[in-house]
Amino acid sequence: MAAQAGADLLGAEKRRLLDRTFEELQEMCRHPCDNLDCDERLKFGDVTDNARVKCSFVCLQKKKVARDFLKQTPRQIFEFNHQNIQDGKKSKILHISIQCDACGEEGGRIKLQDTVEKLYLDLRQYLANDKAQPLLYRPGKPNEDIPDDAKAVCELTHRPCVDDFAKNCLTSEALQSIRQSLQPEHELYNKLRAKGVKAQEKFGDKTMTYIRIGLGLLELGQYTAVLELWPKGYKSPKHHHGGCAGSVRVLYGALNCQLFDSILDDEPIKFKGNDGQLGLPNEGQSVLKLTTGDTTWLNRQNWWVHQVQCHDDFDFALSVHLYKSCSDAFAFMKPITGHTEALTKVEGAGTLEKGMPNNDYFWNVSLPASDKRVEEIGRPADNAQSAGPLDFELLEEQKEAQDKLLHTRVLLTRKREGEEERGGERRREEERGGSSKDDDGWVPAHYAAFNGHKEALQLLHDLAPETLSSKGNDGWVPAHWAAENGHAEALQLLHDLAPETPAHCTLR
Ligand SMILES: [Zn+2]
Ligand SMILES: [Zn+2]
Repeated sequence: MAAQAGADLLGAEKRRLLDRTFEELQEMCRHPCDNLDCDERLKFGDVTDNARVKCSFVCLQKKKVARDFLKQTPRQIFEFNHQNIQDGKKSKILHISIQCDACGEEGGRIKLQDTVEKLYLDLRQYLANDKAQPLLYRPGKPNEDIPDDAKAVCELTHRPCVDDFAKNCLTSEALQSIRQSLQPEHELYNKLRAKGVKAQEKFGDKTMTYIRIGLGLLELGQYTAVLELWPKGYKSPKHHHGGCAGSVRVLYGALNCQLFDSILDDEPIKFKGNDGQLGLPNEGQSVLKLTTGDTTWLNRQNWWVHQVQCHDDFDFALSVHLYKSCSDAFAFMKPITGHTEALTKVEGAGTLEKGMPNNDYFWNVSLPASDKRVEEIGRPADNAQSAGPLDFELLEEQKEAQDKLLHTRVLLTRKREGEEERGGERRREEERGGSSKDDDGWVPAHYAAFNGHKEALQLLHDLAPETLSSKGNDGWVPAHWAAENGHAEALQLLHDLAPETPAHCTLR
């Protein structure tokens, strides 16, 4: 029979999905609600991509609700419908309506009448976080039970270029150089501290950050993999990936992952026994350990909300991440923290915020100079140093040099454009060089002082001297940060270059 021959194209777990009862499947029924006034939908604020809410299956015969279908399987209803189609009894055909539990809005319909493949694909759209699927991708194996979109991204992460990167670039010397750079006064240490200050403001936790390094690998085509560096004790915030398909491959150390049903949930999903085909103990656990060599995945239907951190057994972990069809709905919870009049700390449920994280560095392995990504953030692969062991101090120096170059170029271009007719405007534009503020009210001088970069401070003095005493939102001038972080020479330089720096800015 044609339908059964087709069914064999599905993996074993995919086939089994059609033999699970609707009662069992309903546990996983989640779909975005289209009703703009739905209370559950409103909790997601302006995050609309993949903002799934709990839904139920309702079985309909024409417009009449058919009861007692929950003990039936999709395949049984499919076969019932086929029999009725053959017998010419179209009025008996059953279909399934997916309805929001909160407001009753219909989110979709499943017809159960064409082919089992169609039925499988239709059904999958409405099911979230199905633990029957394998959580780990196995390179070189069919992986037939991993959804096709996620499997494709896992395959990209296992292309020879990524294997070669792990083997040739993440050598023991490179790992040692990372370890070194995480020590006080070194580049990665300083970068983490600077990011920690922002994380403290954003999430109320200075350890809620990690280092992101764009990877320039020619063989990945338009996709840019990200090498994520997780120092011990640091973690990502819990975040929502929207509708993208992605893969996470651990290249060094181990990661602890927690998966959530929804970005609005506090409690992570618990796994036990053969959930995720992981062979776990029978008491539930919410932390999943991914070790070197493990690759996991996510897509629009599964595991798109997670939190990641370095496993305690390692001083840091490295993982390569690849995302396809990324929507703009990357979102995280911003805790509502504040003080009541009595100065007791109050913690609210938090608000949902959108925001794509930026890369901190770019490690170009094989992209040519003509590649846009190299022009913007990296450097060409034919540069003798680009494929050697990673040296973050060097990378940072080059990035700074590039920033300076870019800045000079912008100024020169503006000069040429505005020379005659817009002289006054040009001068005002130039005056703005180095003075743009970020969300925290920081100007580039704050960053330079925070990291103790004397040359950068000198350069900023030439470009925009007034910014050396500019106040951030918290009222701190760059010298406060140089003092806070013990950068004596940078602090002295600030006192010399910016006489208006408050005299109380001294090393403690
Ligand atoms: Zn609703
Ligand atoms: Zn993520």
